Amino acid sequence: MSRIVIVGGGAAGLEIASLLGRSVNRQDEVVLVEGETHHYWKPRFHEIAAGTFDSDLDSLCYFSHGAKNGYMHYQAWMIDINRQDKQLVVRKPNGEADTIEYDYLVIAIGAISNDFATQGAKEHCLFLDTPEQARDSWHQISTLLRSGQERTINIVGAGATGLELAAELAKVSAKLAKNPYAAKLNINLIEAADRVLPNSPQKMSDLAQSRLEQYQVNIMLNTRIASVEASRMTTVDGKILTADVQFWAAGIKAPDWLKNIGGLQSNNANQLVVEQTLATTADASIFSLGDCAAIPQADGTQVPPKAQAANRAAVHLAKNLVAHLEGKALKPFVYKDGGMVVAIGHNFAISTLMNDRLVLKGRLVRRLYDTIFRLHQKTVSGLFTMSRLIIIKRLKCMFKPA
Ligand SMILES: Cc1cc2nc3c(=O)[nH]c(=O)nc-3n(C[C@H](O)[C@H](O)[C@H](O)COP(=O)(O)OP(=O)(O)OC[C@H]3O[C@@H](n4cnc5c(N)ncnc54)[C@H](O)[C@@H]3O)c2cc1C
Repeated sequence: MSRIVIVGGGAAGLEIASLLGRSVNRQDEVVLVEGETHHYWKPRFHEIAAGTFDSDLDSLCYFSHGAKNGYMHYQAWMIDINRQDKQLVVRKPNGEADTIEYDYLVIAIGAISNDFATQGAKEHCLFLDTPEQARDSWHQISTLLRSGQERTINIVGAGATGLELAAELAKVSAKLAKNPYAAKLNINLIEAADRVLPNSPQKMSDLAQSRLEQYQVNIMLNTRIASVEASRMTTVDGKILTADVQFWAAGIKAPDWLKNIGGLQSNNANQLVVEQTLATTADASIFSLGDCAAIPQADGTQVPPKAQAANRAAVHLAKNLVAHLEGKALKPFVYKDGGMVVAIGHNFAISTLMNDRLVLKGRLVRRLYDTIFRLHQKTVSGLFTMSRLIIIKRLKCMFKPA
């Protein structure tokens, strides 16, 4: 009998737990260690923050899902590894420490925002790293919306996260414009680079910028934040940007506590360094994938921290582990990028395809954005459940009062 312990039930970890839970032999055990009770698809955290997320339909309870899909959910946070005794050290919700034995360990705890040690960012900005932070953000936004007058929101970082958040908040504010008691939100999207979506093709940046301008988002390019205080930010050239609510959505890194945990190799962004098989360089029984892993490719590049990459690596590792339990060799993970889709509000998205040669935009592309989430749902819960959820959601949107 082997026990496979997966840490983190996000885009990657939940897929592995579900796939393995349904496919390993009965005598093998699959345990998902995750501190949260419910799974939310992280690329939709900005919708939770803007109050447009439907948690009834789009979240999943690990405990009952595990019972149906052959894995056990152990609610706890990983804090350390004892590699010598093959034990994971965790902290339970009541604060007690515990250990869990493993034969194989998969670490998929994701990443957090990187504030690049900017003074005051941690204390005075909201982050979208966890469902709780996203819900806290919504509480603040909802209070702001009810407070009337013109209100300002600063968002640092015009990558996918910051841009999607800015668009969603702008749409919410526009929808409430007829209510004279609702605040009008002025949104500053602040970016150190010379364009939004700095890591995407120029055409994608241009399209995104013009759409955001239509939504009256104030885009501030070439603007680097030096420090953050309560209700204001100061740029490196001394300009002060006041705001009622401030978000930090620039850059990512793995959490600091992951750095060299249990003697495993990690890089400057605290990500665990793995072989192309996803096994860590220092320990063949410990694997890592998703945003917390540095995954090399044969051409010298590294797999990008994207939901799509996390999902593909998860499917690969699940198959690899099943084969490995049957005594077969591990195969390398070869990542083929399917492009990028960025949602700008509920009815519009921009996408790159064919190695960035093709840039598409519009309502249909927004459906493509949803498809990535639906494919995740299909892997995790099956085609039948995914289809039922789509139908229920359509009906709910059609008949529910606005
Ligand atoms: C607002 C927003 C918008 C985004 N938009 C896009 C997009 O449009 N396209 C795209 O490709 N990507 C997008 N991303 C990035 C995408 O969400 C990540 O690349 C993806 O979720 C990474 O998957 P993962 O499994 O590595 O980590 P996650 O999905 O973050 O899952 C990590 C899991 O580990 C759990 N965990 C953390 N620490 C511990 C611990 N100590 N012990 C136990 N469990 C732990 C967490 O609770 C979580 O459930 C977006 C991210 C955000 C925040």
